[in-house]
Amino acid sequence: MANVPITVAHGDGIGPEIMAATLHIIQAAGARIDIETIEIGEKVYLSGNSAGIAPEAYESLRRTKVFLKAPITTPQGGGYKSLNVTIRKTFGQFANIRPCVAYHPFVDTKHPGMDVVIVRENEEDTYAGIEYRQTQQVEQCLKLISRPGSEKIVRYAFEYARNYNRKKVTCFIKDNIMKQTDGLFHRVFDEIAPEYPDITAEHWIVDIGAAKLADTPEAFDVIVMPNLYGDILSDVAAQIAGSVGLAGSANIGENVAMFEAIHGSAPRRAGQNLANPSGLFLGAILMLVHIGQPDVAAIAHNAWMKTIEDGIHTYDIYAEGVSKEKVGTKEFAEAVVARLGQKPEKLKPAEYKAADLSKLGQTSTPVLQKKDLVGVDVYLDWSAGSANDLAAILEKTNGDEIKLASLNNRGTKVWPDGSPETFCSDHWRCRFLGNDGIHHRQITNLLNRVSEAGLDFIKTENLYNFDGKAGYSV
Ligand code: NAD
Repeated sequence: MANVPITVAHGDGIGPEIMAATLHIIQAAGARIDIETIEIGEKVYLSGNSAGIAPEAYESLRRTKVFLKAPITTPQGGGYKSLNVTIRKTFGQFANIRPCVAYHPFVDTKHPGMDVVIVRENEEDTYAGIEYRQTQQVEQCLKLISRPGSEKIVRYAFEYARNYNRKKVTCFIKDNIMKQTDGLFHRVFDEIAPEYPDITAEHWIVDIGAAKLADTPEAFDVIVMPNLYGDILSDVAAQIAGSVGLAGSANIGENVAMFEAIHGSAPRRAGQNLANPSGLFLGAILMLVHIGQPDVAAIAHNAWMKTIEDGIHTYDIYAEGVSKEKVGTKEFAEAVVARLGQKPEKLKPAEYKAADLSKLGQTSTPVLQKKDLVGVDVYLDWSAGSANDLAAILEKTNGDEIKLASLNNRGTKVWPDGSPETFCSDHWRCRFLGNDGIHHRQITNLLNRVSEAGLDFIKTENLYNFDGKAGYSV
């Protein structure tokens, strides 16, 4: 079988040591790879490249489509862009995968039975970086969830589950509150789940789901969620597994997939042959499955588990009474290599099949719905009185078949029939509805009248019905 070209970056701090150990193990296990090396991180940043990655490096990534990345040091001081964010956005890496596994009784953990994989959407949600200051008092961040984005991540979660012999996919969502955005994610989950009848599908509201995950992680298998929840809960899950230094992760997209440890470059430990290479090594296991070498992944992973079982531990997981021998990075790697061909006796041996990437990034054909403009929300920066005062001013701007229907302040209706107790900021949502469908011209005319009334409109949101159903929170 032909070798698979991969791009490797040795990174900063402990990066070069843990990368050398990782490559040594997987090559000894028979990995069929051709390595292209690129430079990223501190040196590149300090040479004046604010992204920390040279343009030539992109050519290698585009060529190989597979990136094994050691941690890097982001220099102190402003102006340096996160390399992970740059790569994620450049290559459309929509999925972040983080297995969080307890290695009880060999590594200390609060949750002996834990074996959870967090599948986090990686491109959307509140992380699009679209934020505004609109008034003296209020700032806004847009949360964007798309149907294709949700389809890609949900399908990836089910494909991952099938590929890794997992039995259940759980969706974490807050659609009792965010009925539109999280509602879409949930609907997509419900649509795709029946295509995988061999896998149980369930959903939890994220707050109680997170509590359950922290308390009883054994109840979960694969969990898929939008970006923000996934960002927070993947850290919680890795921490409670007790394996922050032992966790690898993958960023997956159709163009380039990136595999790494979840920890950083630990500069204080660098150059001393101390660091645990296991996080990066377990990232490399995900890579081997991804590039179709499940046989090598299983051999290497089983030897690694046997080493952990045998109590051969680096300083970070070494514990008197449990561990047998405290070793350095190189000696740990040699211990794993010496166990190639062996299987763990207590931990569950790894069995892998090659990742099926045929559905990676697949989305459904868009079904176009009839879209009708029915009104507009005009947002105002205003602090000259009460909701009733503002309504009295705005009612004078009614006309042209478009009319003030309600006022909201920070999401609470304050007119008509508001409560005098509701605190009002200087940020008002003024909803105008047409009698029976409206045109853009009616909105621009309305805005002229609002402006002539001396009001500062800070943004508008058009209100649409889709196939007759309101496409806005009512
Ligand atoms: P860190 O993960 O580097 O270190 C946190 C703690 O864990 C330290 O005590 C460290 O010694 C220990 N540790 C981490 N990895 C270890 C390993 N493999 N073996 C043994 N001990 C290990 O986090 P930090 O100190 O906050 O950040 C250091 C640098 O890493 C910063 O410049 C940060 O920007 C960068 N960073 C990079 C990445 C990445 O490249 N993906 C991720 C996180 C942080």
